[in-house]
Parts: sequence; C-alpha cells; structure tokens
Amino acid sequence: MPFGRRWNAEKMIEQYIKYRKWRVANDIDSILERPATLKLDVLSQLVPSSFHGFDKEGRPIYVEKSGSIHVDALLANCTDDEIFWAHVFSQENQCRRAREKSEELKRPIETFTMIMDLKGLTMNHKRLMRFTEVVSKFDAEHYPERMGSLFIVNPPWIFPALYAIVKAFLDPVTKAKIHVLSGDPRAVLLEHIDADQLPIEYGGACTLNDCKAQATATCCVPQRDISHLLEELHKREASLTLEMEQVPSRSKVAKVLPGNPGTTFSWYFKTASHDIGFECYFQPEGTEAKEARQMISNMARYSTDKIAVQGEFTAREKGTCHLIFDNSHSFFTSKQLSFLFKAEEPSSEIASLVQSDEQKEVTDTSAEPAAKAIPSATVATEEASNAATVAAEAAPGATETAQH
Ligand SMILES: [Zn+2]
Repeated sequence: MPFGRRWNAEKMIEQYIKYRKWRVANDIDSILERPATLKLDVLSQLVPSSFHGFDKEGRPIYVEKSGSIHVDALLANCTDDEIFWAHVFSQENQCRRAREKSEELKRPIETFTMIMDLKGLTMNHKRLMRFTEVVSKFDAEHYPERMGSLFIVNPPWIFPALYAIVKAFLDPVTKAKIHVLSGDPRAVLLEHIDADQLPIEYGGACTLNDCKAQATATCCVPQRDISHLLEELHKREASLTLEMEQVPSRSKVAKVLPGNPGTTFSWYFKTASHDIGFECYFQPEGTEAKEARQMISNMARYSTDKIAVQGEFTAREKGTCHLIFDNSHSFFTSKQLSFLFKAEEPSSEIASLVQSDEQKEVTDTSAEPAAKAIPSATVATEEASNAATVAAEAAPGATETAQH
C-alpha cells in the first residue's frame, strides 16, 4: 500500500496506527461481506454507477453518473452516514479489485481510475458538495494516493463554479490527477483504457462478461427507475404549501417567472385527478419568437394524479421561464392543479462565473457559441416508460427514471 509516500516517517507511522484502529473499530475488513447492512440497494439506484473493467495500467475503473443523481431523492431516502459508508464500501471494493488484478498481472496495482459523468448537473448538486469535502479529506487520510486518474466528462457550463469550491479542499497531488474533458472524451479515454473495457456510451466497445449492460446492451451504466423512491420526497413536499389552480377544460394555464443569468428555476406539480399536458421552456430576454425558445420539456401528457412531475433548470442569460399546463384535450373535466414554482437567484459562485463568461464573450468573439442552458427534468409516472422518454428527448440533461 502506498501509504503516505510524501510524508515523513514519524507521521507515516502515526497515521498508520490511526488507520488500523479505525479499520478494527468499524470492522472494515468484512465490509464487503455485509452490503445488506449498508442500504446499497437503494443507493445504487439513486447514484447511477458501475465498477467497470480495468484501464491499460490494470487499475480498476469506477464510473459514476454524478450529474444524473437526483439530489432531493437521495437526501430524502438516505442519511449522511449511509452515503458516507457507501463510499467506504466503494473504496474497499476498488482495493479488492486492485488486489486481484495485482495477483493476475504479478505486479502491484495500487491506484484506481474513475470516470465522473456530469451530464445533467445543476446548481442543486451543490448541496452534495459537503459530502465531496468530507470524503476528500477522509480519503486523504484513509486511502491516500489511491486515485490514479479522475476523468471528468460532459462538464456543463456551470462546472467551473462548482469546481472552484472543490479545488479549495483538494491537495495539489490530487488536483494534478483530475482531467476535465470538455467536448468529446473518446480520444483521451481510449488513450488510457482499451475499448473492450470502456463503457459503450463513452466511446468504448465493452464486451465484459459481468457488465450490467449485457442484458440490455444499451449502455454500461444504466439509470434505474427511481419513481418508487420519489414517494418519500413527495410525502415531504406534500407537507409544503402548494399553490392551487383550476385548469378549465379546453384551456391552458401559463406560469411565468423572470430570472437573471445563473437563476435556477425549479417546479413540482400534481393533479387531484386525471392527467395533464405540460411543457416548459426558457425565453431569453429580447426575444419573442418560438425559435428562440430553449425547450426544457416538450409538450407531453403526464399522469400526475398518480405521481408528481418535477424538474429544474439553471439559466445562462436573462429571460423568463414558462410552465404551460394544457388541459385542451379534455372536453368536460377541469383539472385541480397543485404546484410549486420557484426562481432562486444565483449563488455568488455562479454569479461570478456568469460574469466572467460575459467578459469572455466580449473579448473572445471568435469562440464557438457554447450550450446556452442546462436543462434537467425528472419525470416519473405510472406509464413512466413513455413519459420519461419524452422528457429525456426534450431535455438532453434529463434524468431518465424509467429505464429497466
Ligand atoms: Zn460495459
């Protein structure tokens, strides 16, 4: 074990004793044999991830779709401790995989490779950063120098604002191992990982026997249906005061909120009975044309009497966010709608990012126009399959909750 290579001997011994005591006190040596005590079944649904193959150096790879984590559902269903222990389990599993690979290759494999997919990331994920901080400090003491490479793929435009916070608590050695791959990550990933070990969706051609995707052959790190886990959240949200509104038959109701660059809009709604049509878009200031709209969710009908719809969106420019509730398909029945619709002003981090972004646009006019917004919508209905597909097509960053 590369225990504290950068430290002096005295400190190293002291650290090792502390580490051994921690392992014994928490029975870490047997943690991999007792996953049932750790709520991993729930966590694995809320955090789409996979222990997936090995890189060219023989390092075990862990892939996590961190941007697809449903923050509210995660925090409603799991305690901080449960999230923390799942991380320890993951680290121990990586240690075991590295050990087994060492035996197979007859040379020591002591570090891990991680692919972190940030597609779908919104400012709401900032609420998970207290874990990032705790876990980084914890790993520095208990799993020092285990990180071989961390590849960050699909970073959205808000990423620099969040990364600036994370950087503050990472040591320089760790920072040097982080590769942020904006744009197509395939070339870089294939430099480090053979195609048969790399998930299909990141440019690989995975043929791993134990790959979870083999059954579906669609992607190597499938996102699971978490609609049953949203129930807890809905119970909690139901205790909040929701606004009420009647949507008469053969008519539409629009809700509009203005926002500034970096404003995060969020919504949540359900109907007392029957379904309702819904669409959501952002109209940049100074535009009126339909073509200028940024579609967040295309019009689709949702069985919101059975399960609520929710989503969020961080705007990159000034404009208005529109929610359209459509009951024009119903000739007789008006719908009782209960909803929450909020516009949260940007945090200081995102505000400074938007500002530097504007300056950049002024000074660098030749730059490619970047994606203007990060949509993220989560939809779950009884007929989740159709609804979620519609939502996913509408919003590139959508959390698809209906994959089996
Ligand atoms: Zn695979």
